[in-house]
Amino acid sequence: MSKRIVESYRKKLESEEGVIVKRGASLRIALCYPNTHAVGMANLGLHTMYELFNKIPEVSCERVFLPDDSELREYEKSRTPLLSLETQTPVKDFDVVAFSISFETDYLNMARMLQLSQIPVWSKDRNHFHPLVVMGGAASFLNPEPIADFTDIIAVGEGEILAFQLVDAIFENETKDEILLGLARIGRGFYVPSLYNVIYNDDGTVFDYLPTQIGVPKRVGRALAAANPKEGTLRRAIKRNETEVVEFLMNQDTFAPSTAVWSPNAEMGDRLLIEISRGCSQGCRFCWAGYNYYPPRVVPAKDILAKASEWRGKTNKIGLVSTAVCDHPEISTILSELRKMDYRISVSSLRLDQISEELLDALVESKDQQIAVAPETGSDRLRRVINKNLTNDEIVDICGAVFDRGMLTVKLYLMVGLPTETQEDLEEMIVLVERIKDRMLVAGKRFGRAGKIIPSLNGLVPKPNTPFQWDAVCDERELKNRLKWTAKNLSKIPNVEVRMMSARIAHEQALFSSGDRTVAKVIEAAARMKGNLNDALRETGIDASFHTSRNRGYDEFLPWSIVDSGLAFEFLKTEHEKSQAALSSKPCPAVEKCTTCGVCPTTWLANAPVGLVQLQSLRTPRILAVTA
Ligand code: SF4
Repeated sequence: MSKRIVESYRKKLESEEGVIVKRGASLRIALCYPNTHAVGMANLGLHTMYELFNKIPEVSCERVFLPDDSELREYEKSRTPLLSLETQTPVKDFDVVAFSISFETDYLNMARMLQLSQIPVWSKDRNHFHPLVVMGGAASFLNPEPIADFTDIIAVGEGEILAFQLVDAIFENETKDEILLGLARIGRGFYVPSLYNVIYNDDGTVFDYLPTQIGVPKRVGRALAAANPKEGTLRRAIKRNETEVVEFLMNQDTFAPSTAVWSPNAEMGDRLLIEISRGCSQGCRFCWAGYNYYPPRVVPAKDILAKASEWRGKTNKIGLVSTAVCDHPEISTILSELRKMDYRISVSSLRLDQISEELLDALVESKDQQIAVAPETGSDRLRRVINKNLTNDEIVDICGAVFDRGMLTVKLYLMVGLPTETQEDLEEMIVLVERIKDRMLVAGKRFGRAGKIIPSLNGLVPKPNTPFQWDAVCDERELKNRLKWTAKNLSKIPNVEVRMMSARIAHEQALFSSGDRTVAKVIEAAARMKGNLNDALRETGIDASFHTSRNRGYDEFLPWSIVDSGLAFEFLKTEHEKSQAALSSKPCPAVEKCTTCGVCPTTWLANAPVGLVQLQSLRTPRILAVTA
């Protein structure tokens, strides 16, 4: 074992606070984040799982990260198996290896970490002497199929519920097989890939998933935290002055995910990160976070403020994590109380339609927030295609309000390769950025300085469980040309600094987002070949375009539908059809008794009564054309 690695880990630990070490615990969990320590410590999902697992007295949970480049060289040179951070124990000696994966692009790093741990990557090659390999995190909501064959258990849903159920099942069962079967039979929250045979059609598309054991469901439901009030329900109750309802909603036993380990040397490690709400009501058709976290739910202000007050002695910086900060019905209270505590406030992302005066003032005060907003595209028509209900005039006005407060630099998130996009749409993007730049210069005159407009261009990657799930990613060469043309013309505008994602990266992301189980071979090979995806595709003979560049029919079995998102097929199909016609839809109201998209009546109640229909069968009748 390398002394240098052990020493560097101990040094890292010295700079942290909140680290938990439990000697002699009966269950040891290695919580793996498939990226470096600096990146992982900015991830609230990792902090949450660390806190939740360690809350269980019999469990000791330690963190494991992908080594950075110099650590990696040392690991390879010394042939040291991957170690945990807290006690520098080899990962292969833990009872459970639990990956928390937020981005599907980190699937490659998951395989790499298993290889570095000297744990067989393929679940079929492991026996009961090996740790149980579990995968959870936001990527499990999306499409866990590309790493299904690496994993014993995929936790589909939110950790607040699943952490305890997983640990209970491990303690209650004797053998690995019993644990797997017991969890799979719950029917919701745990997907055990080895208990399904995937049947393919002759053309390589998936025909069906067949459970191999009695009691294992055809589709696995997701488990979502039901204790947090729905955003719309709370807003309505406050507006109508329904004191009793408000009291009830605010006094549920909710969990406020927040920083568990203070790690000032990591990205954003010097601030308290706290999740104030989950999900977004707007239903932008490209956005997986919106659909996959339906219905939007909030953490009551009192819980947020209690944590903030607890941490104030340690830091004066707070990051509010949410996809829709200003949709929180109690945002005014939250902001004003945090400002009274003298916090410098930053937010994870800003939705253009919801930037309030109050929030802007708080961000100006905090000084360290660069404003990033997302017009997504430059054409009002295309914005209706993606269901982002804002016009160019509104966007310029909102940016103007930001500039008028002296914040003269904005980052603009823009997408290229959207369905139905034309050259005229791209030309409109140039005009929009030019208008925003002009508005910045007007404000800049008053402040005696000019700012910068930073358009960040990304290729659209159609995501599972969104209305674009049936669409192909824009052809790579075409996407490259569109990105290049747009970047070139934007760069001609003074005070504009363009950033651009390559078309190649968009295609790689699309492969991990939309691939089926066969893609695991590519991931395993690429992890062996230090991330070289092209060589991996060559070695495995897998055609990436089959997964990424094919429009899928409504009757095709989508590999990710083995996990039931709760979103009704008819709902997604209608949204897809409306996108083609550039028709917008109303946002999710996030109230009780709504049945619009199907999530509330079927999925989000983690402990729904038995009689409630939890799992939907696919509506599409399929013709039997099975190949073994
Ligand atoms: S059923 Fe209604 S309230 Fe629930 S997530 Fe869907 S649209 Fe929102």
